[in-house]
Amino acid sequence: MRWSRAFLPVLKESPADAQIVSHKLMLRAGLVRQTAAGIYAWLPLGFRVLQKIEQIVREEQDRAGAQEMLMPTIQSADLWRESGRYDAYGPEMLRIRDRHDREMLYGPTNEDMITALFRDEVKSYRDLPRMLYHIQWKFRDEVRPRFGVMRGREFLMKDAYSFDLDEAGARLSYYKQMLAYLRTFQRLGIQAVPMKAASGPIGGDLSHEFIVLAPTGESEVFYDAAYDEFDWHQADLSYGDEAGLRGLFERVNSTYAATDETHDEARWSEVGEDRRRTGRGIEVGHIFYFGDKYSAAMGLKVSAPDGSVATPMMGSYGVGVSRLVGAVIEASHDDAGIVWPESVAPWLIGLVNMRHDDPACLAVAEDLYTKLQRFGDVALYDDRDERGGVKLGSMDVIGLPWQFIIGPKSVAEGMIESKNRRSGQRELIPVDRAVEVVAAMLPKLGTTTNSADPSL
Ligand code: ATP
Ligand code: MG
Repeated sequence: MRWSRAFLPVLKESPADAQIVSHKLMLRAGLVRQTAAGIYAWLPLGFRVLQKIEQIVREEQDRAGAQEMLMPTIQSADLWRESGRYDAYGPEMLRIRDRHDREMLYGPTNEDMITALFRDEVKSYRDLPRMLYHIQWKFRDEVRPRFGVMRGREFLMKDAYSFDLDEAGARLSYYKQMLAYLRTFQRLGIQAVPMKAASGPIGGDLSHEFIVLAPTGESEVFYDAAYDEFDWHQADLSYGDEAGLRGLFERVNSTYAATDETHDEARWSEVGEDRRRTGRGIEVGHIFYFGDKYSAAMGLKVSAPDGSVATPMMGSYGVGVSRLVGAVIEASHDDAGIVWPESVAPWLIGLVNMRHDDPACLAVAEDLYTKLQRFGDVALYDDRDERGGVKLGSMDVIGLPWQFIIGPKSVAEGMIESKNRRSGQRELIPVDRAVEVVAAMLPKLGTTTNSADPSL
């Protein structure tokens, strides 16, 4: 993309009305603009990041055997009356009336709808287990929307739902989602520790929140330093390996990590003093087993293998896709601006022509940009008629992983300068090798398959 043609409103100053660093940077780097309290428009730069995050979430859900679908944002109040939640939900629900005076709502979540859809089609244990998900906008009329997209009113969520014949099966679905979450956050370039969460009316040990550590987080967290050495990717574990999945869960469950809501002083005191870590964190995901809460209330039944009738056991699994944009920035920035992990960066490379009026620089920059287009839209080319220093400053703010800097001194020697945004390390590379350098970076950016683990 040529900057001169882009809609990329980068601000010179940090906006004063934002309280936390990610919100300030999202405004300053032109990722979002607020259009109403807690409601944001995603400008091109922010939208690119949102889509990258969404795609990684999608690939890891697919790999875990979940199937993507799409449910609407607007729901009928009757659906929520069936599950008994309509009156209970409270003022966070945006309630709407259509022209025929029918009661509607903007969905804050989809358990009720998915249960009804599943109930109307599925009759037998042979149709189980199933895991379904969608990535869709939600609305919750938060009493205090704040911190930009972190606690918005309209936000993008991945929500998955599992259906199993019995509790043992439901636990396995839960373990699969736990693994999918560890892999998803790892690929996003952040560490999200699974922490035991309050499990609501069902009880048991099956509810975890995934928390990114950041000083501005809303919850206080306590965890065992063992998580600092944890193998988040679990590369050797396949989704068909039940014993391995159980082992992973046991390990997570026996390694202390809790938010202030579930913190247990007695268990905490058993963690060696030198291994106790405390801090603050942002909830980026939440997985939850709720048994037959919705299936029983809404009459979802299947025939069991022995001829009897069974009520499927369910779980739900949320990821805050739009909140993650803010959370990644909280976890990865410096004084100069955002530092994107490569996997979610809006572009891999920022190409900076330092001297717009220098024919040699212009020729090298134009040529390199043209050649890089072969790889797709991987480079943002700052071809504006601006001072070099201004361009470098804005590149640092928007945080692309690599900067290729083209200036008269190096060009005279047949070189360009490459700068790594994270380390600040600079290196001269021959002009005619720059394309190869980029070609070598690209395969590292991860898998892009949308197929399930072959062991499933
Ligand atoms: P919180 O405790 O932060 O209010 P929640 O427990 O109500 O969140 P869930 O119902 O578990 O949220 O939703 C799944 C995920 O959606 C959360 O883990 C979070 O990442 C995201 N999320 C929830 N509420 C918001 C919001 N108001 N703005 C942005 N993301 C949100
Ligand atoms: Mg939650």
